[in-house]
Amino acid sequence: MTHPVADALPLTVGIDVGGTNIRASVVDGDGEVLDTVQSPTPHSERALEDALDRAVRELRRRHRIGAVGLAVAGFISGDRSAVRFAPHLPWKDAPVAARLTARLELPVILEHDANAAVWAEYRFGAAAGGHNVVLIAIGTGVGAALLIEGTLYRGTHGVAPELGHLQVVPHGRACPCGKHGCWERYCSGTALAETAIELLATDPGRSTVLAREASRDPGSLTGRRVAGAAQDGDPVALAAMADFAHWLGLGLAFVSDIFDPDLIVIAGGVSSSAPLFLDDAREEYARAVTGAGHRPLARIRTTQLGEAAGMIGAAELARAVLGEPGRRSSRVARSGR
Ligand SMILES: [Zn+2]
Repeated sequence: MTHPVADALPLTVGIDVGGTNIRASVVDGDGEVLDTVQSPTPHSERALEDALDRAVRELRRRHRIGAVGLAVAGFISGDRSAVRFAPHLPWKDAPVAARLTARLELPVILEHDANAAVWAEYRFGAAAGGHNVVLIAIGTGVGAALLIEGTLYRGTHGVAPELGHLQVVPHGRACPCGKHGCWERYCSGTALAETAIELLATDPGRSTVLAREASRDPGSLTGRRVAGAAQDGDPVALAAMADFAHWLGLGLAFVSDIFDPDLIVIAGGVSSSAPLFLDDAREEYARAVTGAGHRPLARIRTTQLGEAAGMIGAAELARAVLGEPGRRSSRVARSGR
């Protein structure tokens, strides 16, 4: 019954602006991706905005679009109109929303990519039904986002929560952020490879598949490769995975001590290897959280929307600026299912 109403609304475009690729999708009010265009990310500000403009125009030829949302891996201004700084993108204190709005003549909103992802999971995926939700995106590093009573929490300056750079090991591994011992140095795809290399260095006589590969080509040891070798039962890879699970569980205990969430969503590239680490991480979390054994624990789930979450969330946040009355009725109908 809700479909005629939903179909009458303009669609929105969500764009994942990554360091390597731009992926722009038309998304409907049920979070379904209807159409996607992709292109490499240009390295200059002007060329990047040209590419975003082109992507939206192409999608607009095929769909009626009402607003655009950008999911950006970087710091966004508190009013979500400007990109302050994004390590892999050319924007620095750039009023991106205003510039693109002027070019496209459409409302454009910006959102931190992890915030967009948690919003998508909350509306359509693994965080549906959650109240206080933490999303931990584990890939090259660790990204995080926080929903408090169903509202995105962005902090005073729009940069919260930076959980990946909590220091868990004083004087620990060096981090590109300039500090040492950050959580993501022990709990990321990069960390998996680094731990495997350390394990091999402490016992160079080990003759496992991973050890032979590493001695032939040390650069071949990526997090993905370590996860693959763990899947095949390689003892060094399994030990690296166990170390990762320990740090994940410990970090989730910190996160629970601070936020007391009811739901934690594990996302990012490493989440696809969850069967190799999630049970161990849950056990460590249950052991390490303050009040262990005398308090309810957060449910821990893996992402349902995967890599598309940022795009879908940005599109859904853009939909909120449309503010049409029909939307409200379709949303009430949906929330009742
Ligand atoms: Zn750091």
